[in-house]
Amino acid sequence: MQKIKMTTPIVEIDGDEMTRVLWQMIKDELILPFVDLKSEYYDLSLVERDRTDDQITIDAALACKKHGVAVKCATITPNQQRQEEYNLKRLYPSPNATLRGILDGTIFRTPIMVNNISPVVKPWKKPITIARHAYGDVYKNAELRTTEPGTAILTFIGESGEIKTKLVQKLNGNAVIQGMHNLEDSIKKYAHSCFKFALDTKQDLWFSTKDTISKTYDGVFKEIFQNVYDAEYKIAFEKSGIEYFYTLIDDAVARVVRSEGGYVWACKNYDGDVMSDMVSAAFGSLAMMSSVLLAPDGTCEYEAAHGTVTRHYYRYLEGEKTSTNPMATIFAWGGALSKRGELDSLPELVHFGEALREVSVKTIEEGIMTGDLINVAEGDNLQRVDSEEFLFAIKERLTNHLNNN
Ligand code: NAP
Ligand code: MG
Repeated sequence: MQKIKMTTPIVEIDGDEMTRVLWQMIKDELILPFVDLKSEYYDLSLVERDRTDDQITIDAALACKKHGVAVKCATITPNQQRQEEYNLKRLYPSPNATLRGILDGTIFRTPIMVNNISPVVKPWKKPITIARHAYGDVYKNAELRTTEPGTAILTFIGESGEIKTKLVQKLNGNAVIQGMHNLEDSIKKYAHSCFKFALDTKQDLWFSTKDTISKTYDGVFKEIFQNVYDAEYKIAFEKSGIEYFYTLIDDAVARVVRSEGGYVWACKNYDGDVMSDMVSAAFGSLAMMSSVLLAPDGTCEYEAAHGTVTRHYYRYLEGEKTSTNPMATIFAWGGALSKRGELDSLPELVHFGEALREVSVKTIEEGIMTGDLINVAEGDNLQRVDSEEFLFAIKERLTNHLNNN
């Protein structure tokens, strides 16, 4: 079989611990035998980030911007304990936050569904993708705790000198006060990412806020989404047969639970934080959650939603063959290669990315799976395999699939 050709490199961002081990195995077994891989490689392991003073992360982000498609391995976000473990010069920010900041993107998380693992929520038949706005609100708030009666006032001082004030509350005792903000530009970019993603994946887009209570703040979110939709996406949505649907957050929650799935649910920052964990837990496993960062300029970075699976890595270092689930990382590779193929008009590469995802799902549906899924999967004759055996099982099916299609 001839290897599939590529014309533009994908940006390959390597990471840490167990996922770094899986990364190499996936490349060796599932990518390199089939694809004449062109990639621009960035090593974002903690060691390399420390050596380069984190410049490597910035370089990787700029490469993403340049080439448009990236695939990323999970990386350690260092804390005090990691600083000691790796003898770091300083505590580096989360690489994901740096990448997201430079690309100004939105993260979309989608569960990988297989027919022998049922979501906890009975009506769910199709994946639900959660989009989370990653700027502002309570995550960039200012808080005060006061210890006497008084008056809380919200004040804005414009660069022109204009001053706007508003009474928050006359407080007759000890109190807590919070100020938050968001930027119209950030909301607009978020809206663009969401509409683009929905179009790309041909799914309806839901958006929810609490604009009945927060008439100005949430009202602006609602208004911006509607304006962006009307001006730039309405016609394309109608052509694709998909819908933009705005509703209140409480109504959205009730509808989501009763729905079949199969749509993108765009959330404000806090709602997305909470709902993405709810949705991923209800779909079954963090190891079966794929993730893509989509920037308003169209740049896509594919990754797994889970971390570096540290506990498995320590066992691996002691010589144990671990049964770590590589599905989300395989999906990241499949997604990135398909997207690259789409942009470069390489149908074979598009097909390869799709086939890789399909046969991986089929492997689990045939009962071959890693340890994390054994307890939640249904059916007899389930076979628990280690990561390597799982990849071999996929490789066998992938080879057959590519030879016959
Ligand atoms: P984690 O790596 O996601 O793992 C938490 C636990 O979930 C694991 O111990 C394992 O449970 C289970 N799990 C997760 N992925 C799995 C997989 N693919 N196969 C099988 N089981 C899986 O989260 P963490 O332990 O909180 O974080 C570890 C490191 O990852 C941290 O340094 C953190 O900074 C980093 N992190 C990175 C990203 C990212 O790059 N996107 C995201 C989150 C965390 P059992 O041990 O019970 O088997
Ligand atoms: Mg959270």
